[in-house]
Amino acid sequence: MSPDIRRRKTKSIDLGGVRIGGDAPVVVQSMTSSDTRDVGATVEQIHALEEAGCEIVRVAVPDEAAAIAIHEIRSRIHIPLIADIHFQYPLALLAMNHGADGIRINPGNISTEGIRKIVSIARANRKVIRIGINAGSLEKEIAVRHGGPTADALVESALKNIRLLEEMDFDAIKLSLKSSDVTTMIAAYRSISEKTDYPLHLGVTEAGTLIPAAIKSALGIGTLLYDGIGDTIRVSVTGNPVPEIGLAYGILRALNIRNVGPDIVSCPTCGRCEIDLAGLAEQVERELRGMKTPLKIALMGCVVNGPGEAAEADIGIAGGKGAGMLFRKGKVVRKIREEEFIPVLLEEIRKMEKM
Ligand code: SF4
Repeated sequence: MSPDIRRRKTKSIDLGGVRIGGDAPVVVQSMTSSDTRDVGATVEQIHALEEAGCEIVRVAVPDEAAAIAIHEIRSRIHIPLIADIHFQYPLALLAMNHGADGIRINPGNISTEGIRKIVSIARANRKVIRIGINAGSLEKEIAVRHGGPTADALVESALKNIRLLEEMDFDAIKLSLKSSDVTTMIAAYRSISEKTDYPLHLGVTEAGTLIPAAIKSALGIGTLLYDGIGDTIRVSVTGNPVPEIGLAYGILRALNIRNVGPDIVSCPTCGRCEIDLAGLAEQVERELRGMKTPLKIALMGCVVNGPGEAAEADIGIAGGKGAGMLFRKGKVVRKIREEEFIPVLLEEIRKMEKM
């Protein structure tokens, strides 16, 4: 944790064995893009997410078959599962009865009677309910009064729905207030974090494909984390969710909140670079995908500034003409030929992993 980040203290809840809030680390979450009724495809995608470091997964539950499929999916995966429900409260009951560790609902689109039934099952079975407020599906009356899905409107909806669950004597709650607009999302989370101490799930919704999603999430989620706000995070990327995990850890690593996996530091290159540094960086990144050990790996284009600029790195290479210097913790170890870069680097990294 960076010295200047003081994490806001939230209520601690347990989601299927994973602690959320309180002193627990910020948890990385994702959502499958497969058809939940296709158990094989969904389990395969969740295994790929687990391999990448995902710690909680959410699946869409649009109908009864999807809710029932949760039973087998949950038995074949190793991380807690949240069922995402809209409108039909019976699906939430079915999902919880088939092994979902928690459900995500937008209480605004479920009747109070439905919520009461959900709460009664959740309480009896120690399930978590995420109140997922979303700019796109805000209660009409609140949106009209605020002139649209503003930050204040999202907060009002969240507080109203918290009250509803609290009146039913339920408090295993997690909250999200998502918007596709980064500044709205930041303002909404900042405001709600002053008004309640339930754990917060951060995300920028409909963030787009990889690059726009990375930019919006780094700004939205990153700004809030820097404020000390946020207990779980999800980077939303259109399509295959696996890259979301690398981005999420990248944000956490950049703020020194959680150091998981390799941090590849490579220079932008300039006229002094005489090796294929971009190719090297891409290959190293590919080879180390899924690695959990926190290692800082520096790939620098030249020896002029290389070792010095990357003095903090655990290991690195500074290029020369058709060769390069291998260095550890800023100190040169030996000279290696360009064709040896990858095998030598990987061998050294594997050794360090075992230490
Ligand atoms: S490390 Fe060398 S090649 Fe890379 S940007 Fe700096 S001076 Fe240029």
